[in-house]
Amino acid sequence: MTSDSQIPSSPRPRRPTLFGLLRSGLPEAPPPVDEKHLRELGRRVEERARSRLGRSLALRLVDAGSCNGCELELHALQNPFYDLERFGLRFVASPRHADVLLVTGPVTRNMREALERTYHAIPDPKWVVAVGDCAATGGLFSGNYACIGAAASVVPVDLAIPGCPPRPRELLAGLLALLESAKKPAHS
Ligand code: SF4
Repeated sequence: MTSDSQIPSSPRPRRPTLFGLLRSGLPEAPPPVDEKHLRELGRRVEERARSRLGRSLALRLVDAGSCNGCELELHALQNPFYDLERFGLRFVASPRHADVLLVTGPVTRNMREALERTYHAIPDPKWVVAVGDCAATGGLFSGNYACIGAAASVVPVDLAIPGCPPRPRELLAGLLALLESAKKPAHS
């Protein structure tokens, strides 16, 4: 029942619909990617991996306690802009299939055992890369009661890629530096 005393409800703000988005296009422009430089980096990573391992490089990620910022950049490596797989690099589900262990975040007390077990499950020779400031040094979370600190305090680290978080191109450049270093994996 309506009455004159009822207050008319104010119109609700219109939400964008899928059709509206399709009509107007994506709301944000894609990030600028230096495709030529990226392709060159990727080609060199692929070439180095093949000469050192005889095949492409397999990566296994352990989030040891990150805020997920570093994971987002690692995920970006697999999106259509960066398309890591065209260079033969791939993320694997099992550590037994991996060459490189990527660690993100400060190592929390809860994740210590999982990180150690993943490290030991990767066959030799293997490399460990600390991705981002937290894994490299403990970062923002240094001294926190729930954190042990840098990845190197739990597993031997071959390379640290700084940044909060490092950008996809820096991650790719880090992997290239790892493969080009004369150094053998810390534990082979
Ligand atoms: S380095 Fe930055 S983005 Fe990465 S886990 Fe730490 S706080 Fe998050």
